[in-house]
Amino acid sequence: MTQYVFFTGGVVSSVGKGVTAAALGRLLKERGFRVAVQKLDPYLNVDPGTMSPYQHGEVYVLDDGAETDLDLGHYERFIDISLSRVCNVTSGQVYAEVISKERRGDFLGGTIQVIPHVTNEIKQRIGLVGKNLDAEIVLVEVGGTVGDIESLPFLEALRQMRSDVGRNNTVYIHVTWLPYIGATRELKTKPTQHSVRELRSIGISPDMIVARSDYPVDGDLRSKISLFCDVEMRAVVPLVTLPTVYQVPLELEHAGVADFVLERLGLTPRKQPNWEDWEDLVARALLSKPKVRIALVGKYVELRDAYMSVREALNHAGLALGREIEMLWVHSAELEKGKGWEALREADGIVVPGGFGSRGIEGKILAANYARENKVPYLGLCLGMQVMVIEFARHALGSEEANSTEFDRGTPHPVIDLMPEQRAIADMGGTMRLGLYPCVLQPGTRAAEAYGLERTEERHRHRFEFNNAYREILGKQGMIYSGISPDGRLVEIAEIANHPFMLGSQFHPEFLSRPNRPHPLFRAFISAAIQYGGGKNGKGKLPKREESSSIQTRP
Ligand code: GLN
Repeated sequence: MTQYVFFTGGVVSSVGKGVTAAALGRLLKERGFRVAVQKLDPYLNVDPGTMSPYQHGEVYVLDDGAETDLDLGHYERFIDISLSRVCNVTSGQVYAEVISKERRGDFLGGTIQVIPHVTNEIKQRIGLVGKNLDAEIVLVEVGGTVGDIESLPFLEALRQMRSDVGRNNTVYIHVTWLPYIGATRELKTKPTQHSVRELRSIGISPDMIVARSDYPVDGDLRSKISLFCDVEMRAVVPLVTLPTVYQVPLELEHAGVADFVLERLGLTPRKQPNWEDWEDLVARALLSKPKVRIALVGKYVELRDAYMSVREALNHAGLALGREIEMLWVHSAELEKGKGWEALREADGIVVPGGFGSRGIEGKILAANYARENKVPYLGLCLGMQVMVIEFARHALGSEEANSTEFDRGTPHPVIDLMPEQRAIADMGGTMRLGLYPCVLQPGTRAAEAYGLERTEERHRHRFEFNNAYREILGKQGMIYSGISPDGRLVEIAEIANHPFMLGSQFHPEFLSRPNRPHPLFRAFISAAIQYGGGKNGKGKLPKREESSSIQTRP
């Protein structure tokens, strides 16, 4: 019988419910249990794939190509597991399924209602996780906070689960926030009390409260929460904001969270947790280290969550190489207006991450041009690889018109283009090349050296590809195809010759980086950036277009 730990949020969102769930998953795995984590998102989109990063942050892609919430990235990184499509359920999916069943006549003339039809569909999807991933303990996190109208069907399903699978097989953890009142210098428990009352009114009594806060929580406050919320004192767990999120599992370990949860589930640990590696990771994260400055050139730089996995992957590589990653956020559209160049010139390495649509594209191409001409290490991720190819083609073909057909349908040099199988697709959702695809590494290239392998598999999310009609001509001018699909049709990794490190991958390596196992391409890139930073004298030369004008005085 699968057992469940349910996570709800109270007071405000974005206080780290996902990280808390991920950390508990790690604690349980350390005790020898097979765990999986599921996120229930109350919005009506079928998946976040079609949502703007401004709305939702990054879209995290799984092995099977599911486009999911960024919390799944936390789960995979903390627990070091691979999740599947069933691990992210949205109201959109649930309603679409219920309505299509109704159209098929599956309900035999019944009236279709939220309870029981929608809640049954939710429970059925929760049940799939244990089955499909062979997990013994499934952690389920509900997005948003208690009190949202949207999340009611999910909470009702969780409530029913307690009697469906048995009281001894479910634990409910409520993650709340304790606001700090500056004038009186105290933390307040009232919003927590209210959110627990709200949760109770829908029939869920939390077994544990994780009280997030920016300030230390004393014993009095804990006993107050315990008393007013009717939760055992040892199950009131303060979780103060920490210098690094990697400390969260250790903090929860220290607070005895896993022991409490296992006790509730009637389980005893199968092995002693071994935190040596993780403690070492935390120690390295806390150590003060020399900096390496990485410019990230994107169009959603105001919203850091939009590049969550890229930042994480950079940090993993930095930790392995003993460097603090200092992020320089550069807005690609600003570069086009002559702004933001100072950051680029200070950078030891430049990353152009994934993206869609033409806004800011020319700025990214300028950044690639700057990296190539000044021999600044460059890592292109998906769109960043396409940008690298466009920039190189403009130079190699002597035509400023080389482009991707995504941005210029009529370009005379479509160096990046749709694959024939993509042309007939009209739907936007879930129709890209998604998920794991194999890649054969070409011996003697930087990519092969970084991986130390002959073949790898990486996660994709894109519609456009390198246009093979340009393989030979660009190859002659110094473009190296270091990763190719096994059938030889698709360029997966490209590099620029005679450059310390200019490499782009058509896939998203950031999704497979783990805290203790940095992704080889990120590691190689950061190594190159460290070297470049060490030998750097002065700042790089600006692209020709920017030279003629005085950067600072431009509006
Ligand atoms: N827009 C590009 C494509 O669809 C790149 C996508 C991405 O960076 N994920 O191919």
